[in-house]
Amino acid sequence: MRTLLMLNVALLGACGGAELVSIEDSTDDGQTLNAAAVAYLQDAAPRLGMGRGDTVRQRLHFRDDKAQEHTRFDRFYQGLAVRGADLIVHRGDVLEEDITTPMQRPIDLSTKPTLNPDEAAYLGQAGFVGERSASLLSQKPKLVIDAFDGPDKLALAYEVVTEGTQPDGTPSVLHTFVDAHSGQILRSYDEIETAAGVGKGYYNGTVTLEITKNGTKFELRDGVRGGHRTTDAASVVLTSTTTTFGNGTDADRLTAAADAHYGAAMTWDYYKTAHNRNGIANDGKAALSRVHYGNKYNNAFWSDACFCMTYGDGDGKVLKPLVAIDVAGHEMSHGLTSRTAKLVYSGESGGLNEATSDIFGTAVEFFAKNASDTGDYLIGEKIAGPSLGKPFLRSMSSPKDDGRSIDHYSLYKAGIDVHFSSGIANNFFYLLSEGGTNKTSGKRASGIGRAKAEKIWYRALTTYFTSGTTFKQAREGTLKATRDLYGAGKAEETAVTQAWTAVGVN
Ligand SMILES: [Zn+2]
Repeated sequence: MRTLLMLNVALLGACGGAELVSIEDSTDDGQTLNAAAVAYLQDAAPRLGMGRGDTVRQRLHFRDDKAQEHTRFDRFYQGLAVRGADLIVHRGDVLEEDITTPMQRPIDLSTKPTLNPDEAAYLGQAGFVGERSASLLSQKPKLVIDAFDGPDKLALAYEVVTEGTQPDGTPSVLHTFVDAHSGQILRSYDEIETAAGVGKGYYNGTVTLEITKNGTKFELRDGVRGGHRTTDAASVVLTSTTTTFGNGTDADRLTAAADAHYGAAMTWDYYKTAHNRNGIANDGKAALSRVHYGNKYNNAFWSDACFCMTYGDGDGKVLKPLVAIDVAGHEMSHGLTSRTAKLVYSGESGGLNEATSDIFGTAVEFFAKNASDTGDYLIGEKIAGPSLGKPFLRSMSSPKDDGRSIDHYSLYKAGIDVHFSSGIANNFFYLLSEGGTNKTSGKRASGIGRAKAEKIWYRALTTYFTSGTTFKQAREGTLKATRDLYGAGKAEETAVTQAWTAVGVN
């Protein structure tokens, strides 16, 4: 808790002057009492209507760039916080000494409530929408004086604090002011404020991030996308003292975090915009992103158990930090697959699972329109290190270019790694989007544009693919999806047929 300094300002009887009667000095934040401001406040007390029963507590003291001092005080009346009646004492050579406060008259109000705290808590918490956390339910409402509507409309009120999570996953610390006599809700506000931050990522340049102000810090907590958080490997949310996260180099641990936070936001927005999907699980709740996992870890992974993505920093040789946008989209899309078709991660369904992540990772990269990482049909081109031996992990337009992936069903063998058999469906998607020729069969397919190809794959995945879907069944599923979306016997259906035929799936 922020306990600062307490001093009492009281009018002392006969002489009529204001005099400081006591100072409570708490040292836990190291702030010293601004004696000159206190003296000025004492002198001003009569015209501010402050007298016996009034107390002020120094909250903040700073000197601006014109060498003016500004000291903030909170006001109390008979021990109750007077909310909305705080004071600022201004002193210095340039400005005249002055006090800013909306309350310039004596407070005359009974501090005896009609309602008891439990009744106030019941009324105050009734308006909370979402899931309350149990810990704070036992916190007693505090009696305060509500002065937010000015000195003419003072009200004795209970301040009820309810902590929990809003339906979209955004954390909430709701303060509700309940009239201590009538039970009327006077006002409420949420302590958790969303803010616009700036991310200076490793790959994405300078981007806007949705962050959250919590006390004096800013957190990588996205208030508009299901409460998505970016944390360190121990799942502790990452914070900054300013609204800027990262500096574009890996010397700052927030740089990778900025990229991961941005990648998650773009993935969320892509699914919302392109497929009207409300988060990976379509329940409005965000996944979690964890960065700096392990030591020089050359991978990134999705885990259903924590509903989270985890990124390594790479060893700098084979791979660089794995937080590029197509990798983010790839990982989160594994979450989508596990919430829909549940394609088993081995055999043909495993290749389709990996291809689904490459398809949507690529779609997210195009969607973001980021000038520092423009859209392409390569996977991991930003994270390739000098000793990887190729400038990307996988290519959808030419899968065999990585030296291990296959682009045609005739090359499929049982036991082939799912990251290489994915090439069959990756090349299908590329040919369907852009048109072209499969390099193994030499067969051509016409392109219908990426947007339609994405819709077809999404519908097939969510509507027709099952856990054991094979390439042949994927062909059937995408053809059904195409007919659902664009009608039977149309150019889209022809293109899907051509593209599968080109990659040897008949
Ligand atoms: Zn994957």
